Amino acid sequence: MITRFAPSPTGPLHLGHAYAAILAHDMARAAGGRFLLRIEDIDRARAKPQWEAQLMDDLRWLGLTWDGPVLRQSDRLPAYRDALERLWQSGLIYSCTCSRRDIEQAASAPQEGAPLGPDGLLYPGTCREKGAPRPGQKLPETALRLRMDLAATETSFEETGPLHRGRHAVTPETMIREIGDVVLARREMGTSYHLAVVLDDAHQGVTHVTRGADLFEATCIHVTLQCLFGLPVPRYHHHDLIRDAAGKRLAKRDDARALAKYRSEGASPEDIRRLIGL
Ligand code: GLU
Ligand code: ZN
Repeated sequence: MITRFAPSPTGPLHLGHAYAAILAHDMARAAGGRFLLRIEDIDRARAKPQWEAQLMDDLRWLGLTWDGPVLRQSDRLPAYRDALERLWQSGLIYSCTCSRRDIEQAASAPQEGAPLGPDGLLYPGTCREKGAPRPGQKLPETALRLRMDLAATETSFEETGPLHRGRHAVTPETMIREIGDVVLARREMGTSYHLAVVLDDAHQGVTHVTRGADLFEATCIHVTLQCLFGLPVPRYHHHDLIRDAAGKRLAKRDDARALAKYRSEGASPEDIRRLIGL
């Protein structure tokens, strides 16, 4: 078994991160497998080296050790462009220059309440024709969207987490109706969360993806991309988001729950495990 913890260095680690990291670590160790660390720093405006240093320090303090070198997504940009280049050559992605406003206007025009996809409004397809690759045209630096009507395929994935345990079917009909033409490259990034995570999990040989339940809905996109690239489909384990004493889900970005704060108040790693129930 190979698991990973894949934080974005855009703020302090909080209790929710500690839960994800400890779970992935303990699952790998219990199975005699490997636990990897990946730094998801493609958002260059928000990722900061000091957050990366702080999160590694927090992980070591928690007693977690990772195997092999750390993978940084900022070092993988050529691999992402390469994959996009292949999709571009096959006519599976197109250039999109719509603003959020353009999408809102086009999507809500005929009917009341435009349908929602995983990244906000379902994309109405405005640029599908005019943004399509022309012969000899280089991969543009614009946002790039996936032709879901061409890319979606009949597939499934195995979920082992407590909330959605079992096998989940992914069908072209649902992908087209509920997910639509997702963005695979953002203009200022040259990639996207969905593309990077799929290529990196395969590159690192991750066999069991553990992460928060807030990412469960994105899994059908990831599995579709894995099929498209001919990559293995890992198993998934989405864990519940941890809750505070009142049973409220803890926000991902709640700095009041930063591990650093617990540490400065004298908490031990055992106290943290007790707090999050691991
Ligand atoms: N980087 C993501 C986060 O910080 C996790 C991505 C994943 O586990 O797929 O929430
Ligand atoms: Zn567009």
